Amino acid sequence: MSVKVIVVGGGAAGMISAISAKKNGAEVTILERNSRVGKKILATGNGRCNYTNKFLDVKNYHGKNFKFVYSPLSQFGVEETISFFEKLGIVPAIEDSGKVFPLSFQASSILDVLRYELDNLGIETICNAFVKDIENKGGKFLINLKYGRRFSGDRVILATGGKAMPSTGSDGNGYNLAKKLGHNIVDIFPGLVQLKLEENFLKSINGVKVLGTAYLINKNKILREDRGDILFTDYGISGPPILQLSRKALELLNNGKKPILKISILNSIDKNELEESLKIRFVYMPKKPIEIGLIGLINKRLIPVILKETKIDRLKNIANLSNEEIEKIAHILTDWRFEIKGSKSWSNAQVTAGGVDTREIESSTMESKLVEGLYFAGELVDIDGDCGGFNLQWAWSSGYIAGQNAGIK
Ligand SMILES: Cc1cc2nc3c(=O)[nH]c(=O)nc-3n(C[C@H](O)[C@H](O)[C@H](O)COP(=O)(O)OP(=O)(O)OC[C@H]3O[C@@H](n4cnc5c(N)ncnc54)[C@H](O)[C@@H]3O)c2cc1C
Repeated sequence: MSVKVIVVGGGAAGMISAISAKKNGAEVTILERNSRVGKKILATGNGRCNYTNKFLDVKNYHGKNFKFVYSPLSQFGVEETISFFEKLGIVPAIEDSGKVFPLSFQASSILDVLRYELDNLGIETICNAFVKDIENKGGKFLINLKYGRRFSGDRVILATGGKAMPSTGSDGNGYNLAKKLGHNIVDIFPGLVQLKLEENFLKSINGVKVLGTAYLINKNKILREDRGDILFTDYGISGPPILQLSRKALELLNNGKKPILKISILNSIDKNELEESLKIRFVYMPKKPIEIGLIGLINKRLIPVILKETKIDRLKNIANLSNEEIEKIAHILTDWRFEIKGSKSWSNAQVTAGGVDTREIESSTMESKLVEGLYFAGELVDIDGDCGGFNLQWAWSSGYIAGQNAGIK
C-alpha cells in the first residue's frame, strides 16, 4: 500500500509537491479552494512568469533564518528546476539579469504544463475545496472542508501560500491551519510592495518615471541600493528598485525606526560632476529662466517641484544663479531624500514576509519537527525572496523536497 498524501493548496508549491510525491509512489490528492489551480502563477512576471533566476544566491532570501533555504535549494535548485520544466516542454529564455522565463513569455505555459502533468500522473485535483480544519489523530490526518466533506491522509503538505494578492486565494488563512497544528507564526507583513510617502507635491508628479537609483538609509547607513525604473505616484513611489527595498524598509518601520529613501535621478553621474556639468550647460543659456534651463535634463514635470524644494525662484535667470543654488540643484538630483511612511496593502504586495517559523521545520525534508507527517512548502513558510524569480524558485524547491519526502513509504 502506498502512502496517502493530501496537498492543501494548489499553487506553485502545492502542484510541484504533488508531482514529486506521486513520482515517489504516493497516492496524492490536491485540495484547492479556487475553481482552478495555480491562479497566482498567471499573474507572475507581468503575465510572463519569471520562474527562476540563474544568479540565485542564498542572500536573495529573507526571514528570521534565511539560511534555512540552503538545503532545499541545494537538493532541488535552479538547474533542477530548469530541467524539470524542460522535460515538461518549457524552453527557458534567460535574460542578462539571470531572470528565466518560458520562451513563449506566457505565464499560462507554466501552468498548462503543470496541470497536464498532474492529470498525466493521475493526481486527484479537487477544486472548490476550502480546507477549514486539519486534525491529527493517531498518526492520521483528518481534513475538513468548509462545506462538510472530509478527507483523510497519512501525510499532509500545507502549501496555502501567504497573504499577498489575496484575490488569488492565498489570503493568510493557512497560518491558522498551521497554528492549530501547534506551529508558531513569525509576524507577517507585505514584501515587494510600493512605498507610501507624505509629500504635498506627489499629485503633481504622479506618473513620472525616472531611470535612477534608490537607496534605503537608516541612521545614515546605506542598507540597500537598487537601480532601475522608479515611478512617482500620488501615494508615494513604486518601480522595481522600490519593491526590492520595501521589505527592509517595512521591517525597520515595524521596529519603530525611521527609514529614509534616497533617490538619485541622474545616477550615472555624481554630485560634483553634475555641478560642474550644470555650470558648463548654463554658460550657453544665461538669459533663460531656470525652469526652462532644466528642460531636456530631467522630466519637465519634476522641474517646478525640484525648484520649490530647493527654494529657487523658477523664473530666476540662469545668469543670476549663485554657485550655492547650482550646488543645491546638483544635490537634489543626485540625493533626493524622503521619509518612508508605510506601504500599499496586501493586494498590491508580491510576497509575504514572515510565516511558519523555520525553527520548527526540518530543512532537509520540509517536515514539521512538531507533527510527524506534516510538511510545509512555499510562501507559507517564513522565507521570502527578492524580486527576480526567487520566490517561485523557493516554491519549486521547498515544494519538490516536501513532496519527495512526504511520498516516501
Ligand atoms: C503580482 C505578482 C507577481 C509575481 N511575480 C513573480 C515572479 O515573476 N517570479 C517569482 O519568483 N515570484 C513572483 N511572485 C511571487 C510568487 O507568485 C509566489 O511567491 C508563489 O506563487 C507562492 O507559491 P505558493 O504555492 O506558496 O502559494 P500560492 O501560489 O499563493 O498558492 C497557494 C494556493 O493555496 C490555496 N489555498 C489557500 N488557502 C486554502 C485552503 N484553506 N484550502 C484550500 N486551498 C487553499 C490558494 O487558493 C492558492 O491557490 C509574484 C507574486 C505576485 C502577487
